Amino acid sequence: MPKKTDSNLKVPFGLKDGRLYRPDDVPSGLPCGCICPACETKLVANHGKQKRSYFSHHRTESCAGGYETAVHLMAKQVILDEMRLRIPPITIPFEFSPIEDEKPIRSSVRYPERDVELVVVVAEKQQGRWRPDLTATLKNHAPLYIEILVTHAVEEEKAETLDNLVEVDLSNIPLESVYDAKAFSEEVVLYAPRRWYRCSLYDDLKRTKDARRELEERAARMASEHQAQKAEQEKKAYHAQMAQMREENRRKVSQRLKSKDSFKNDALIHHKLRGQLFKLRDRKAAYVAPPAGGLDNIPVDGEWVFSVPRSTWQHYILEDCLPNMRVDQSFTAKDILAKVVHQFPWSQDIEAIMQMRHKLSGTDGQNVPDPEKIVADYLRILALSAVISFGADQNSFTRFWGDRWSKHLTWKG
Ligand SMILES: [Zn+2]
Repeated sequence: MPKKTDSNLKVPFGLKDGRLYRPDDVPSGLPCGCICPACETKLVANHGKQKRSYFSHHRTESCAGGYETAVHLMAKQVILDEMRLRIPPITIPFEFSPIEDEKPIRSSVRYPERDVELVVVVAEKQQGRWRPDLTATLKNHAPLYIEILVTHAVEEEKAETLDNLVEVDLSNIPLESVYDAKAFSEEVVLYAPRRWYRCSLYDDLKRTKDARRELEERAARMASEHQAQKAEQEKKAYHAQMAQMREENRRKVSQRLKSKDSFKNDALIHHKLRGQLFKLRDRKAAYVAPPAGGLDNIPVDGEWVFSVPRSTWQHYILEDCLPNMRVDQSFTAKDILAKVVHQFPWSQDIEAIMQMRHKLSGTDGQNVPDPEKIVADYLRILALSAVISFGADQNSFTRFWGDRWSKHLTWKG
């Protein structure tokens, strides 16, 4: 690496009439007519016989910025003369975040380095606040700004402001290349490291757009799949919660049923009614069903439970209850049973059991007939025999115009 900050370093190029020259390209000595591009002191061209030719300052010991300024200016002059430049490769990254709180998805498209022709190129043209070293126009009319780095890199703000800004880095160029016209030209135009600060030259190319769209579509697919998954999970969670609530309720109810109190109650009722239940069993066993005969002597299951013979309570229903029911209103077995029980109260044994009937569980419950069902069975047979009618359903009954009792009344009247 050349010692570019060395104040005694010889200035490699002399300036004459706005152009830089190498010492071999101008007359020897002071008549070379060149000045130092940095300090503007007259230069002396020293043509070497054994060693390389060089410029020295006339009557000046040292010059601080001669080397940098000369190399910087010469690089610009090369590009202005050559009207071409190798531009660096570029990778254009894409990034989407289809799913919140998850890593974004990325892709990129890469364009290799490329040699471009500069249709127009000018030095030090003001671009807003900034003055790039060179302002060029490409064949597709896109602008290209070129900065030459010898000791000072591009200012950050400038880099952010100017689009399509490329920097050619000559900070590490070998001294031999500086003194060799062809080598220097090749370094500047082709080989020296170079990089983009910003570049939008490829943004509108189909390949760029396709790559971007592809990732965008993938992101959209991921987002909608994720959405669907989330909805499905929420649905499952909802159903699971509902099932859990149902299970909890079921458990509570069954726990209540199985609680000690509940067992205790059953046991108590059983114990309390034990005597009556035995008698009831005996009564059932001892019951002899009388032969059937007529509408007031119809066998029905459980009839043995009544305290009066079958024909007595049925006759009462047929001849006392039903004739007094209103023709325009339906009635139920429960209504009729109330009248029957009022007329023929339960025997003492059975009354307690009938009152507690709904609290009896298991076999005890099954062994006690439902008196409402006994009456209902009887009424159903009367309805099937057209003595009365069924009501709106099989559990309600009604009298009808012209039935046996209304006929009788009509005839009587
Ligand atoms: Zn100088």
